Amino acid sequence: MSDAKHRLLDGLNANQQQAVSTTEGYVRVIAGAGSGKTRVLTHRVAYIVEEHKAWPSEILAITFTNKAAAEMRERIDHLLPDDSRSIWIMTYHALCARILRMNIDALGYPRDFIILDSDDQKQVLKNIYAELHIDIKEIPYNFALSHISNSKMDLINPKDAEASATFPLEVKLASIYKAYVKYLTAQKVLDFDDLLLFTYKLLKENAEVLAQYQRKFKYIHVDEFQDTNGIQFEIVKMLSGMHENLCIVGDPDQAIYGWRGADPKIILDFEQYFKGVQTIILDRNYRSTQSILNAANKLIEHNRDRVKKDLQAHHGMGEAVSFFEAADDTQEAQYVAHTIDQLLAEHGNGILNDIAVLYRSNYLSRILETTLIDAHIPYRIYGDIRFYERKEIKDMISYLRLIHNPNDDLAFNRVVNEPKRGIGPKAMSVLADYAEANNCSRFECLANIDALGFTPKVRKALSEFAEVIIELHELQATKSLADIFAEVYQRSGYKDMLTADPQNQSRVENINALETSLKELDTQESDDDTSKLAAYLQDIALYTSQDDDQNDDGVTLMTVHSAKGLEFDYVFIYGMNDAVFPSKRSLEEGNIEEERRLAYVAMTRAKKQLYITASAGYNFISKMTKVPSLFLNEAGLWEGNQYKNERIIQKPLETFKKNDRIQNIEVSTDFKTGQKVTHNKYGDGIIVSLDGDLGTIAFAKPHGIKTIVVSHQFLKIK
Ligand code: ATP
Ligand code: MG
Repeated sequence: MSDAKHRLLDGLNANQQQAVSTTEGYVRVIAGAGSGKTRVLTHRVAYIVEEHKAWPSEILAITFTNKAAAEMRERIDHLLPDDSRSIWIMTYHALCARILRMNIDALGYPRDFIILDSDDQKQVLKNIYAELHIDIKEIPYNFALSHISNSKMDLINPKDAEASATFPLEVKLASIYKAYVKYLTAQKVLDFDDLLLFTYKLLKENAEVLAQYQRKFKYIHVDEFQDTNGIQFEIVKMLSGMHENLCIVGDPDQAIYGWRGADPKIILDFEQYFKGVQTIILDRNYRSTQSILNAANKLIEHNRDRVKKDLQAHHGMGEAVSFFEAADDTQEAQYVAHTIDQLLAEHGNGILNDIAVLYRSNYLSRILETTLIDAHIPYRIYGDIRFYERKEIKDMISYLRLIHNPNDDLAFNRVVNEPKRGIGPKAMSVLADYAEANNCSRFECLANIDALGFTPKVRKALSEFAEVIIELHELQATKSLADIFAEVYQRSGYKDMLTADPQNQSRVENINALETSLKELDTQESDDDTSKLAAYLQDIALYTSQDDDQNDDGVTLMTVHSAKGLEFDYVFIYGMNDAVFPSKRSLEEGNIEEERRLAYVAMTRAKKQLYITASAGYNFISKMTKVPSLFLNEAGLWEGNQYKNERIIQKPLETFKKNDRIQNIEVSTDFKTGQKVTHNKYGDGIIVSLDGDLGTIAFAKPHGIKTIVVSHQFLKIK
């Protein structure tokens, strides 16, 4: 055995060593979470290079996300400091884009082809709808796009789709698909799915190109293979056709992308596709404690459709998994913040990056975010934008701002044509000119709408818009916040716009989460001096003017889907209630096996300690009284009303003290209009107007005008 062998096999167990050194042929590594699958892949790639079996450029390693690719490259860099650069480590889409950039001319396309993003795709559909007289209300764009995507991934061409369509909706969808493909072909542009589809076609139809890549890739590896779809499999199958060295690793218990067309059967039936497949099982878990694994193993055993495997932890029992059921979701988030605060006090702020809070759906981040901000605990949201930065939330907050103060031009500009009312740039510039000439706000212009020379359609749209705002403005003192919100959501047409399209589900969930927070606020005592709406908007401004530098150290907030493959010392799973996790839809459809796998993924991200939380009370979204998730019961953490774990804190939390992570900065109180100020993030600016604590401030480019709470610690008088 050479030295190199020793070095790269060192620190691996016997089965892992076998997986690394079995370089030839078709190799399948099936193993549970944290058993070293990704580690085996990286060592294997390095091993092949050090054993001179191939040049770095002859090795391909496919990962599931760009983040995973970057991490794998880093790990391989570490093992092979001189040689790693030319190894192909990338996602399926990146691989395909690279192959096409060099060879798409064989299909008659230019090499500098353009890839359409989803906005471009909708623009294309807009024209097609007009041509085919299809109403967006009948077939929302996203619905058509996912139909197109599914057809492409299933290798159904427009002709076949047309031939097999029988129901009127199918016929329409087939005609949209046909026109869409026709347009993209004529323009010689590709959408995201085309990257896979064109590569598939290219390799299938062009023997020369196929041979070139078959020769090139002596060794191919795929991580997270349980989430591979049919066309991706066809591509690696073809690429490995000459050298026949393909190593795939995965865990069928972690298949969580069935809803997007991934097919876990491919990994299970892998040996049926090739001759002499060698299967290696890894059964030691090096990530988590035995307590965490016991709970995860127990849970996943409830899936009927699975191959049984039992993972043993390399580490000891460790701390028991803790479960906390709070009286409501605010207290639940406080518990999370409180526990993080204690962890930081105990281990120092150096562990901030080792903590993650996972949740089933994006909307759940709202309370977590505001609670962490209040507790001065820095956080990053991975794979999504912060709650109050999300488009639908910004839009609805702008509506509320406009109701509070119809002269708020920024809010006016944001929502006057959202949803679309046919108020185009021309109408907007008429309004702007008139406002300037008459020294009034955009909204005030509407009082003289007849003088503005709009078309009847624009005039009608603007009048109706103004009517809703004025009515609600007058009612703001008497109506509850939740009622004002519900009315403007409905009457502005925003609700219809969102709910018309099933693809908007997560946006609707975000809106519902916002509405729930307003309902909760309505039940609290109010301060008589300011209206509830004004007080609310001031609070919101505080959360929206946060410094959002996502590169600083911080606790990671993410959905379980995006946590795949990752690991953290301390993991919280927030919102472990029925109808949240498992989701309401999965319960209704009686299809919770994929949800259970998702919960298994969530639990197995934790290395040292796993905290699971749920809350009681009423769920405004599912319209049910909340109960802890059935998964807790299945994992042996909760039985009926009996908590099995003694570490649970059941008494209400006291509000915790903020620790000294962020020093208190002196806040100036004497702000006036015209004052020069400086902001930590936006730099120098001038206060344009003040409304109580809420200031409109003009900052230098590129930041422009912002509305923020002037007493915020980031803002100082210059
Ligand atoms: P997942 O299913 O979540 O993707 P995985 O099977 O890919 O997990 P890895 O991420 O490769 O698991 O490994 C989990 C952790 O265990 C990593 O921190 C890794 O460095 C460590 N590890 C793996 N094998 C060993 C070993 N033989 N000795 C020590 N640590 C190991
Ligand atoms: Mg992995």
